[in-house]
Amino acid sequence: MTVILDGTALAATLREELRADVERLNQSGITPRLDVVQVAGDAASDWYVRAIKRACQQIGVVFNLDQLPADSTQQQILAQIHTLNAQPETHGIIVQVPLPKHIDADAVIEAIDPRKDVDGQSPLSLGRLAQSLPTFVPNTPAGGMEFLKRYNIPIAGKQAVVVGRSNIVGKPMALLLLQEHATVTIGHSRTPDLAAILRDADIVAVAVGRPGIVHGAMLKPGATVIDFGINEVGPKTIVGDVDYPSAAEVAGAITPVPGGTGPVTNMMLLRNVIRAAEGLGS
Ligand code: NDP
Repeated sequence: MTVILDGTALAATLREELRADVERLNQSGITPRLDVVQVAGDAASDWYVRAIKRACQQIGVVFNLDQLPADSTQQQILAQIHTLNAQPETHGIIVQVPLPKHIDADAVIEAIDPRKDVDGQSPLSLGRLAQSLPTFVPNTPAGGMEFLKRYNIPIAGKQAVVVGRSNIVGKPMALLLLQEHATVTIGHSRTPDLAAILRDADIVAVAVGRPGIVHGAMLKPGATVIDFGINEVGPKTIVGDVDYPSAAEVAGAITPVPGGTGPVTNMMLLRNVIRAAEGLGS
């Protein structure tokens, strides 16, 4: 029988664990705080910021929004990052993307103090991940790994395929699987035959942004499928990158969309903020 990897339930468990971590930190006089730097003008980003705020409030992490006007210059945004870098009460900093076209987003993210880079997006954080050194792991792939861990899905010695190679999801997911001793193949837009690389995969993680790019006939029976895709296909209708009905018939375990990887991502962000408050990055 196919196991449904329930992200809503996993997020609830993680929320309770993180709340206890915050209480423990409070007892030693530390209040974890996240600062979100946002340049005004993107509705999707507004929605995401509200979700982060709610998640912080639920576990007792202080949330602070540093919203800058839409016409802010690169210098103004960098100045804000430098202020937060120097501010001891700020433990974690994230920059909401997309940034306006006139802003060099890479330079902004690179300006975040690596000890506060709770999105794990700076070249230093990703470089440390590549070298298996302690670092802040990007939240979405960290959530994917959390499913494998909590559902006791073996990784070492298994064949894993990650479809997608973005710096935010695919690449770090591949590195994390490699760190856990999987044999990892990465598929991307130039992969001529996706089905051929998926055929033997015990673990399949998909982060493309195209509904149905992976379907049941491409999977090895019993494979574990982690679907990171979030695709709006109609009013209030979200589907993943994996064709769920056909994949669920073949897979041994699968994340649904919605209710799979999405809810766990923010919990991983909060975990990084708590780790930053504990001094992980120092
Ligand atoms: P990007 O657009 O940055 O990357 C997409 C990747 O998919 C690229 O590496 C691209 O290859 C690859 N790709 C595109 N077309 C194909 C194809 N036909 N066959 C194989 N690979 C292909 O996306 P993100 O990584 O940022 O996001 C991916 C998905 O995950 C989106 O749906 C996004 O909404 C979702 N997401 C979900 C999160 C969550 O919490 N669950 C958080 C973040 C994102 P190439 O490099 O060659 O162009």
